[in-house]
Amino acid sequence: MRGKVYLVGAGPGEPDLLTVRAAQILARAGIVFHDALVNPEVIALAAAAELVPVGKRCGRHSTAQKFINKRLVDAAGKYETVVRLKGGDPMMFGRAQEEIDALSAAGLRYEVVPGVTSALAASADLGISLTRRGISRSVAFVTPRVGEGEEPGNWVRAALAADTAAIYMGAGEAASISSALIAGGKPATTPVVLIENASLPDSRWIAGRLADLPILAKTGRGGPALILVGEVYNKVSSMESVQHERISA
Ligand code: SAH
Repeated sequence: MRGKVYLVGAGPGEPDLLTVRAAQILARAGIVFHDALVNPEVIALAAAAELVPVGKRCGRHSTAQKFINKRLVDAAGKYETVVRLKGGDPMMFGRAQEEIDALSAAGLRYEVVPGVTSALAASADLGISLTRRGISRSVAFVTPRVGEGEEPGNWVRAALAADTAAIYMGAGEAASISSALIAGGKPATTPVVLIENASLPDSRWIAGRLADLPILAKTGRGGPALILVGEVYNKVSSMESVQHERISA
């Protein structure tokens, strides 16, 4: 057996934000390796599959990346359709490249199925465009998070250069993010939004100024959260939840 491996984006949380292609592949999957953040309703679409959690939730137990790569390669020897299901989009802070490299090195066929990345779901919840004529013509997707043994990235430079910044995996270090951006020259009064559980029924966000980010972050409830920074957010008021109308049953 030489199966094909699909790196599938599960979207930001709500199951009906999954692509049709992702749903079709899940339905015929023989095995699914999924992240901790993926909604159980999405995983349930893989009705016939063996399910393997390989959750990587910051600070909690994680399966080493090399081990995941190896398991994907091994699974392609046993199953026709292997799915690696990742939160949001696989190509955005999802370590997809390491998996793709391992699959190509093993001479395996693979395909990437895009998903809605959380910054786009957050923009939808807020009703605030990442770009806006006259105010924002550039967006930086950044993370202060670095892997073990890696040099701190140049995320600050990118976030300063862009009109709007979407900061992934940063809610736990809001204080250092705020001071690094202010030290780099971003005005302390720059509007920021911290949004948690974007797209989900318990989505909530809190808005303020860059200098207040550490205080805003303390109000979090432990769900995945994004920090959005930029003038486009100057009229956001803090809110809990938006009611989306779900299409699927
Ligand atoms: N590949 C994913 C990102 C993985 S990194 C994507 O495209 O969205 C994990 C980070 O994504 C979290 O720390 C958080 O910053 C962000 N995130 C994921 N889901 C989110 C959600 N529903 N609401 C807000 N932020 C989310």
